[in-house]
Amino acid sequence: MVLVKAVLSQLHSYWARIFIIPKTIILKIKSICRNYLWEGTDAYSKSPSVAWEAVCNAKDKGGLGIIHSEDWNVAMIGKYTWWLACKEDHLWIKWINHVYMKQQDWDVYQPTINSSWTWRQICKVKERMKAGYVNDIWGTNKGVYTPTAGYKWLRGDTPKVDWHPVIWGRLNTPKHSFIAWLYVLRRLATNDRLGHHGMQVDGDCELCGLEYETHEHLFFGCKYSSRCLELVSSWLGCSIPDQQVIQWCLQLKVKSMIKKQVIHSAVVALIYLIWMERNRCRIEQSVQHPVRVFQQVQYHVRLRLKSKQGISMSTAAQDWCRQVQGLS
Ligand SMILES: [Zn+2]
Repeated sequence: MVLVKAVLSQLHSYWARIFIIPKTIILKIKSICRNYLWEGTDAYSKSPSVAWEAVCNAKDKGGLGIIHSEDWNVAMIGKYTWWLACKEDHLWIKWINHVYMKQQDWDVYQPTINSSWTWRQICKVKERMKAGYVNDIWGTNKGVYTPTAGYKWLRGDTPKVDWHPVIWGRLNTPKHSFIAWLYVLRRLATNDRLGHHGMQVDGDCELCGLEYETHEHLFFGCKYSSRCLELVSSWLGCSIPDQQVIQWCLQLKVKSMIKKQVIHSAVVALIYLIWMERNRCRIEQSVQHPVRVFQQVQYHVRLRLKSKQGISMSTAAQDWCRQVQGLS
């Protein structure tokens, strides 16, 4: 996810500022980013767990906040169509007026069949952005168009999700957050989900071997995973329920922000480690003692908490943190 955001998406974003990128190239970029996110290579091998459109939503809207290449390109080029609408004093605008528009009204202007491909594409961008100009969407930004505001508008008003502060908490380990994101979207490939997709799978839970493996069973109806949850609960001095854990985290009433973040981090780490243990078990046919899983949760949370040393907090929170770190 970090590489897709920081490298793959950035490679073309420079060109997206200057040119209309042809659709075939945009589709190729999208497929490289998508395949790399899910497979770690540029080759497609199976249907992704989450649709790319949803992946491109901001984190607070349930996605990963990866740039949607096409909309980003349109938002960038939207800057030129805004300049034309505002009759900005640019050499390029003067040239466009002289060659194409010839004093026509930009709002209703349509390119001729002889116009260049680039100019026709810019006119298409204008048609897409027009509603934003008409309704003065950029009014909140003192009437000035910015590609970021344009991009936000193009991505639409997908409703916010309430769970994002828990899943993407500041003390969470990023790879734990990613698996917890799939968990909250119910896209982890548990046996019930594989069964829905017509795959023949041995239905029993790998961890307890007692019941059919469903999302609800694994998190945390299972004897094994609920024991891990009990150990985490008693370590943190709270009682985490074995169903609706994310909802419980959201409703958690604790004054200290750091305490809240530690609890979120532990719940997210536990979801990740249960999933990993289930997968390891499937390959190696042996299950570790729940205490081992709990110790790994402790290890990851303590490591993250160590990085926060020195931040100001109340004496009560400090004492609690020392206890969690096993220092008192
Ligand atoms: Zn089980």
